[in-house]
Amino acid sequence: MAHHDPHEHRPPAVRRHTDVAVVGGSAAGLAGALQLARQRRGVIVVDAGEPRNAPAAHMHGYLGREGLPPAELVRVGREEVRRYGAEVLDAEVASVRRTDDGFELDLAGGHVVVARRVLLATGLVDELPAIPGVAERWGRDVVHCPFCHGYEVRDRRVVQIVTHPAGLHPTPLLRHLTAALTVVLHGQPAIADDALADLRAAGVPVVTGDVDRLVDGDDGALAGVALANGEVLPADVAVVGPGFRVRAEPVADLGVTPTPHPSGLGDVVAVGADGQTAVAGVYAAGNVTDPSHQVVHAAADGSRVAAMIAFSLAEEDLRTGPRPPAGALDWDDRYGGDALWSGNPNGALVQEVADLAPGRALDVGAGEGGDALWLAERGWTVTATDISRRGLARLEAEARRRGVEVRSLVADANDADPFGGARFDLVLAMYASIPRTGDDRAVRNLLAAVAPGGRLLVVSHDLEPMRAPVEPGQPPRPFDPDAYVRVEDVARVLAATPGWQVEVHETRPRPPGAASASHHLDDVVLRARRRA
Ligand SMILES: Cc1cc2nc3c(=O)[nH]c(=O)nc-3n(C[C@H](O)[C@H](O)[C@H](O)COP(=O)(O)OP(=O)(O)OC[C@H]3O[C@@H](n4cnc5c(N)ncnc54)[C@H](O)[C@@H]3O)c2cc1C
Repeated sequence: MAHHDPHEHRPPAVRRHTDVAVVGGSAAGLAGALQLARQRRGVIVVDAGEPRNAPAAHMHGYLGREGLPPAELVRVGREEVRRYGAEVLDAEVASVRRTDDGFELDLAGGHVVVARRVLLATGLVDELPAIPGVAERWGRDVVHCPFCHGYEVRDRRVVQIVTHPAGLHPTPLLRHLTAALTVVLHGQPAIADDALADLRAAGVPVVTGDVDRLVDGDDGALAGVALANGEVLPADVAVVGPGFRVRAEPVADLGVTPTPHPSGLGDVVAVGADGQTAVAGVYAAGNVTDPSHQVVHAAADGSRVAAMIAFSLAEEDLRTGPRPPAGALDWDDRYGGDALWSGNPNGALVQEVADLAPGRALDVGAGEGGDALWLAERGWTVTATDISRRGLARLEAEARRRGVEVRSLVADANDADPFGGARFDLVLAMYASIPRTGDDRAVRNLLAAVAPGGRLLVVSHDLEPMRAPVEPGQPPRPFDPDAYVRVEDVARVLAATPGWQVEVHETRPRPPGAASASHHLDDVVLRARRRA
């Protein structure tokens, strides 16, 4: 059992909100996420990071991506979905509950994702025959799929170890790919005599007898397949036919029960033509529904089923009216408890703005308003915007208590015209969590709100430590740091926009100021001036 220090620092569980929670972020899940994020749906992908083909060095048969390492497909896919505001959390979904309005997903170690729909893209686990050497070499010189690896093993010495009645399914393909094929019937699988006769007639040696182990060569590569009778069949590659177990545990309590696959080798999650499981609102795609899917099929399936989810959400919204954006629900939730921040201004704001003459200021992502109130008290005319009504209500209450005036505006920096065309002498975004988009819409909105001669101040955490794996025993991160506008994005847009001068752009230790759990992080600070 894991040891937990009762005094260790555990951040409180966070409730995230989204339209669609995608469980599993490999080919099917990320392709689904891309489809949905491009439909302006909130998407949170939760991925435990173990795609089925991870043991293989290269992925074959994917048009346009031929030969790519599997991890590279996931990396590129994550970047693509983030460009449309989707988030990818490195975490595992432990269980899914139904609520009045949708679903709640419990992440292992803490945090909850609240979603209207669930897309299960968890894939399957290959159950390898218990032959010494098979698991160690799996995905390298022990393979299963003639389409994934056949070309690479062409003309080589291949020993196919058949362990079950359906085991000869790939054999004609293997025979076509190499003349040096031997078939071993291990554990007396019930294979029809005429099928064996066909093989023998085609010149394929068929050996009946148990395999003892795989034999290593001097160079670490496979040298042969040792039989229980002591004979060693020389081999460069062994082919096995694993059983499989779908990863459907998280939805078991909901009533999604795997059904047997016709091959008798495992089970699958049954879905209708629209990819929906027996439980309304829970969809599934990829290997979890069909073990024969290669990567390109899994991606296509995820994309297709996600389109069905997009239809179901849009049709529902047409009937019931649009809902508050997921980001607003997230932050309303966070501002629903005790005050999050101290009410003091952020140190970087004080450092960068103390010497400026007061004028009109726009605080984007103002939250509970520590920065906006500080500016107002120093004589600035402040408009505080946030996606969260609750955060702004707190700000308004505190402004009344302090006797200062701050105009508040519920606005999403990613809207088409969030600030009504108004211009300000200072536009600030302090640690604002604004989803990134491929067209940098929010950044352009910030720049457009700066009056000639005015300044833009953007401060965020240095993200590098947030990308490191979380420490053992700590809950997963409830946010995807790379899904939000970064200071680097602002710098990039500024560099491409005439009429700006960057005055400060640096990473430095966070000065004391507003209370935050992230005291150990550095700040990235960017201050720029729009030429008059
Ligand atoms: C050794 C090997 C080599 C292969 N080579 C090729 C090849 O060259 N070309 C090809 O086209 N196909 C290949 N395949 C097949 C390929 O692996 C599958 O087609 C593909 O992985 C299916 O994608 P998927 O998205 O359905 O599932 P997966 O890729 O298996 O992804 C499922 C994801 O869900 C995550 N997950 C599971 N449970 C949870 C949970 N509870 N919470 C959060 N996340 C969860 C997993 O960690 C994983 O990241 C190969 C398979 C194997 C075994």
